[in-house]
Amino acid sequence: MGSVTDKQASIDKGEQVFYKTYNRFPVIFDRGNGVCLYDSEGNEYLDFGAGIAVAGLGYNDPEYNQALTEQMGRLLHCSNLFYNQPAIDAGEKLLKVSQMEKVFFTNSGTEAVEGALKIAKRYAYNRDGHGGHEIIAMKHSFHGRSLGALSVTGNDHYQEPFAPLLPGIKFADFNDLDSVKALVNDKTCGVIMETIQGEGGIYPATEEFLKGVEALCHERDMLLILDEIQCGMGRSGFMFAWQEYGVKPDVMLAAKALGNGVPVGAFLARGRAATAMGPGDHGTTYGGNPFVCRAADTVLRLFERRHILEHVREVGAYLWDKLEQVAKNHDRVKAHRGKGLMQGLEFDCPVGGMVTKALLEQRLVLISAGANVIRFVPPLVITKEDVDHMVERLEKVI
Ligand SMILES: *Cc1c(COP(=O)(O)O)cnc(C)c1O
Repeated sequence: MGSVTDKQASIDKGEQVFYKTYNRFPVIFDRGNGVCLYDSEGNEYLDFGAGIAVAGLGYNDPEYNQALTEQMGRLLHCSNLFYNQPAIDAGEKLLKVSQMEKVFFTNSGTEAVEGALKIAKRYAYNRDGHGGHEIIAMKHSFHGRSLGALSVTGNDHYQEPFAPLLPGIKFADFNDLDSVKALVNDKTCGVIMETIQGEGGIYPATEEFLKGVEALCHERDMLLILDEIQCGMGRSGFMFAWQEYGVKPDVMLAAKALGNGVPVGAFLARGRAATAMGPGDHGTTYGGNPFVCRAADTVLRLFERRHILEHVREVGAYLWDKLEQVAKNHDRVKAHRGKGLMQGLEFDCPVGGMVTKALLEQRLVLISAGANVIRFVPPLVITKEDVDHMVERLEKVI
């Protein structure tokens, strides 16, 4: 266990070595167990961030660890020039729970977004026999940091220094169908959105909007791409958030909780989107390797066996009631939004970073989503008792 001076020395060293693209909180996490994290000084934190919605099954799960340990001693990597059984198994399970037809495993969420954008462009190229197509994305969206994903991320602050980005991207207002319709033309090949906007402040799509965009996509022969990287994998109380809406995307994206901590994402497609790209159109060296796919396969197996969706609905409803109470108790809380175990409280001023910092001192990990919103994305295995403990500490800090 490190001393305070060791800790500061490590943090200083970190600041020396890392390319500075983050302002980090002064905590060194050392290990995790269940829904708790432990820092380098041995302090226990209740975790309502899950490493940004990643650790769905929590930390140090014995069955998950055993599967990965076994796989490590067998084979980590073999490239996509060959088959590997964990990828076949994970793929089969993922298609079953997503109602999709084809899967491509990536190393991250951002890369899943890249794949989806390529499908949309390839689809329209097959359709029209030429390139130059356009994609409609949403304002206040977040799809990742690579140049393609950044191009569809509706945030000027993130985009401006890196211009010019992908041409032909237009931004509509989320939950405003007319604003999407106004941007469609003969060159449009797809619409991309998060089913529940995450980084933008926890905004669920309305049913009317999602159904309207789906109908528009059918009508104009465009692809509906749903980014479920944050809201998917059980977080909304449904395996994928769109499954609650009575719609069906042509392409959908998963990552974050898919691997429970190992880097794995996926894009999935169905219908004509499932065959739009062919051999030579896309690839990856690591993506879908046996190690990460063994993780994804194990996550999907444990989700089913442990009835994670039912659990999320129950604890999510409990969290909802508790946060409604918090919102009522405090005038500065302006709104409460979300579904399942993806909820947010919006304040009337930019408190996000401040609240997070104060809560860390209370040994509670909570992250923000934009300046005014604090975000609740705990491990999905969190209990009602954990929710009570969290609310106690939150009330103190507000
Ligand atoms: C996190 C996130 C991404 C990017 O995923 P990375 O794994 O960080 O590349 C894309 N879309 C959404 C909705 C996300 O929350």
